[in-house]
Amino acid sequence: MSIFRAISPANAGSAPSPLIDPFARVISYVRVSVTDRCDMRCIYCMSEDMNFLPKRDVLTLEELDRLCTAFVSRGVNKLRITGGEPLVRRGIMGLFRSLSRHLESGALAELTLTTNGSQLANCAADLAAAGVRRLNLSMDTLDPNKFRAITRWGDLAQVLRGVDAAQNAGIAVKINMVALKGVNEAEIPHMLEWAHGRGMDLTLIEVMPLGDVEAERTDQFLPLSLVETRLAERYVLEPIDFATGGPARYLHAKETGGRLGLITPHTHNFCEACNRVRVTCTGTLYMCLGQDDAADLRAPLRASSADDLLNGAIDAAIARKPRGHDFVVDRRGAKPAVARHMSVTGG
Ligand code: SAM
Repeated sequence: MSIFRAISPANAGSAPSPLIDPFARVISYVRVSVTDRCDMRCIYCMSEDMNFLPKRDVLTLEELDRLCTAFVSRGVNKLRITGGEPLVRRGIMGLFRSLSRHLESGALAELTLTTNGSQLANCAADLAAAGVRRLNLSMDTLDPNKFRAITRWGDLAQVLRGVDAAQNAGIAVKINMVALKGVNEAEIPHMLEWAHGRGMDLTLIEVMPLGDVEAERTDQFLPLSLVETRLAERYVLEPIDFATGGPARYLHAKETGGRLGLITPHTHNFCEACNRVRVTCTGTLYMCLGQDDAADLRAPLRASSADDLLNGAIDAAIARKPRGHDFVVDRRGAKPAVARHMSVTGG
């Protein structure tokens, strides 16, 4: 019998109120990190020697299900499972299968994930069966040696098999590429043509000062305003009114016929329309990716099998969601904007 069988549907009982922050933004999107562990060590994301959390601190899959369900019952209609690398968590497909009941009930519009693709060749068919229609795959280069250098441990061929498997399973893949000065900046047109040639969107991301990594952030940072200017010399790029519920703004590239997303936390602040919060695998709720304020949801989750305490903690946290973050990468040796790595908060 499924370990998730006894969990109730999100819409059981009276309808709880939606989540609205002090700036009248409706919180409809939650990103849940299911593990802080990863089978890669991207140079901008993690340090080579990471200390991972002890198992007792990490929410069980049943607790993660309950937490996600509590958010869904409060009007959250988009869930993104992330990490660390979500597909390295043992039993993770059980969570996807269980959460798919919220897609079936109509409470959830989308169940998706962000992955490095290393396990995708094995998981894609099961993800599709659980209702995953779209995923974000992080890939910063198509050069196998550079891929190894950026990820420290990754195997590009394995990830490419994952891309094939996802597309064969009918899952739309969006490629996320962190733009790194002097590392992959010359490869952006090639990545654009490759992604669009396979019917995939490409989204470029500016590196954010999250957590200490060995590299100097000012050496990594490449403003996308510059990238956009360069790309506009080769392609006709037209702004389009396309949104996925995330922070990217989109352009249509006339020559390739595909979409280019730009996530520009520095050159274009993406906070005004923020509809998201993030929960770590320990049940810590971050109301903003770039701020330290957080709320512990694990204690109320574990203190009672009813959701009253949990809902109270969520309400109190949403009531202090900040207007936005304040990333600056302008000084050598500057401390990260927040101490935690992206792998902790979940991308
Ligand atoms: N392991 C999964 C993956 O690789 O997609 C999910 C977690 S990963 C932390 C999520 C995304 O965050 C990836 O696209 C990664 O490139 C991005 N990321 C990590 N650290 C970042 C940073 N400091 N600045 C910008 N993006 C970052």
